[in-house]
Amino acid sequence: MSPFFTAVRAVIFTAPSGAGKTTIVHHLLRQYSDCLGFSISATTRPPRPGESHGVDYYFIPVEEFRRRVQTNAFLEWEEVYPNTFYGTLRTEVDRLWQSGKVALFDIDVKGALSIKEALGDRALAVFVHPPDIDSLFQRLRRRNTEASETVQLRLQRAKEELRYRFRFDIVLYNDDLQSTLRAAERIVQYYVCSNSFGD
Ligand code: ADP
Ligand code: 5GP
Repeated sequence: MSPFFTAVRAVIFTAPSGAGKTTIVHHLLRQYSDCLGFSISATTRPPRPGESHGVDYYFIPVEEFRRRVQTNAFLEWEEVYPNTFYGTLRTEVDRLWQSGKVALFDIDVKGALSIKEALGDRALAVFVHPPDIDSLFQRLRRRNTEASETVQLRLQRAKEELRYRFRFDIVLYNDDLQSTLRAAERIVQYYVCSNSFGD
């Protein structure tokens, strides 16, 4: 293991929406299932087809989300889109650590910076960079999960988020997907799960 990251207990993948972080995170969870555990966020948005409660997210009503903010239940939370909240429950990180897993996060850029600030050297933060804004647009369109106004909102936000890339430990360019997945595996193997072997 690298002497610089001897106690990494969390790996954060962050990116503008559509850059590919969920694809990368799902791949790593399959490859390193003995080492990594997905940090399931809470959100107030409705599930997409195929998503389920307690697997992809904890889908909770906005009133419950606000209540949990009041009780300081979140390690971090953000109103990622107007009136749509996302957050990392402290209990979620405890759950993963108690089971001996390294917590793997798929979160927005501001949330990633908050987690990095909270966990310091225990967290390795990776910024997934799209080749360009046009590819991001095409990926979001092809994913076909968002209405066209939401795609525009996400693109606008993406331009701002790209400015923060230099604040992360690693910038991972996601142009050719297979090369990116191999690079992500190397990062995890080197810094995080050096005692486990990819499946
Ligand atoms: P994010 O989690 O960052 O919003 P996703 O992982 O959902 O992004 O990826 C957005 C869409 O782009 C998905 O349909 C995914 O299959 C596709 N995608 C991811 N990486 C690439 C890539 N390198 N080339 C082309 N399409 C990609
Ligand atoms: P989506 O609706 O596409 O699943 O997620 C929208 C954005 O919210 C993505 O950038 C995703 O990474 C981010 N997100 C998911 N969970 C969290 C979280 O717990 N905290 C924060 N701050 N952002 C999150």
